[in-house]
Amino acid sequence: MFNLGNLTPPSSNSGGERHVKVLVLGSGPAGLSAALYAARAELEPVVLTGMELGGQAALTHTIENYPGFPEGVGGAQLGELMQKQAERFGATVEFDTAQAVDLSSRPFKVTTDSGVILADTLIAATGARPTHLEVPGEYELTGKGVSYCATCDGWFFKEKKVVVVGGGDSALEEAIFLTRFATSVTIVHRRDTLRAGKVLQKRAFDNPKINFVWNTVVTNVVGTDKVTALKLKDTVTGAESTLETDGVFIFIGHVPNTQMFRGQLEMSEDGYVTANNRMETNVPGVFVAGEVADNHFRQVVTSAGMGAAAAIQATHFLQKEMAEAGA
Ligand code: NAP
Repeated sequence: MFNLGNLTPPSSNSGGERHVKVLVLGSGPAGLSAALYAARAELEPVVLTGMELGGQAALTHTIENYPGFPEGVGGAQLGELMQKQAERFGATVEFDTAQAVDLSSRPFKVTTDSGVILADTLIAATGARPTHLEVPGEYELTGKGVSYCATCDGWFFKEKKVVVVGGGDSALEEAIFLTRFATSVTIVHRRDTLRAGKVLQKRAFDNPKINFVWNTVVTNVVGTDKVTALKLKDTVTGAESTLETDGVFIFIGHVPNTQMFRGQLEMSEDGYVTANNRMETNVPGVFVAGEVADNHFRQVVTSAGMGAAAAIQATHFLQKEMAEAGA
């Protein structure tokens, strides 16, 4: 996790209203890369971290496919490095969350936990959050055996049995990570083929601690104070069964964090912000980067690239406006 001591507290904005040239919402690879580029254009960007410092990437134990780190890099460590790099050129990273945005006129008005920020340009990099199964027991037992983050909670399952739900890259990557702690990891997947890439598939199939339950969905998370079992249903035969487990990790996709932009930014049916290949939204001066606008690639490197692109466009936008004002 990020070092909170490195972040500017929200009190710097207490109750006040201030004006910035570039406001970045979100501190994942997209937001911090946008901040780096905007800072190097001397726009003194302000980044609001949001609830998850470093975004989802900070919850990943090791990132092995971000270029430049041949041995891999910790997700939180990569975030800290990106933060430092952006701050070196004049970005301010604040531990604060936007609650509402008004994009109807410029400067845009962003109400945060601690005040109001007026922004000439906005880069929305608010990311996504895990999808829930929406089955009985899931919410009640979250934190009591139900988890969406192996890096955060894996350690609690030392010498225990766990289940991972899902068949994508996240499910397999996290299942492999969980074998460091758990005695066994059972992957429950609703089909009989995996969506995950071949490299991860091979690693999972080769891991003696991992076994698979195919064509099966979870219908109930069972337990009172903690998870004790899952109720399962075979998607082919309809047969129901019970699987005893100490925990369940759910990796079945993501939902974009776009609620506060609803009715203001154009979105796809599933809630991802629509942008052109210059990261421009339907509102001039509002740009997007990362998973808030990408339900396809979802990689640290692609999110970082989108962040850089968004900041370059924000810079062009402000330069053009200044040139027009001076003309
Ligand atoms: P994903 O690829 O969308 O996979 C979600 C998985 O959950 C699928 O197997 C899906 O089943 C299953 N699922 C969805 N809804 C379900 C439900 N209600 N009940 C049971 N199962 C359900 O999501 P992801 O694994 O988080 O990956 C998202 C993106 O990030 C992908 O593009 C992936 O390549 C990328 N990613 C890459 C890496 C890496 O490169 N190391 C690591 C993590 C993620 P179906 O297969 O039947 O649809």
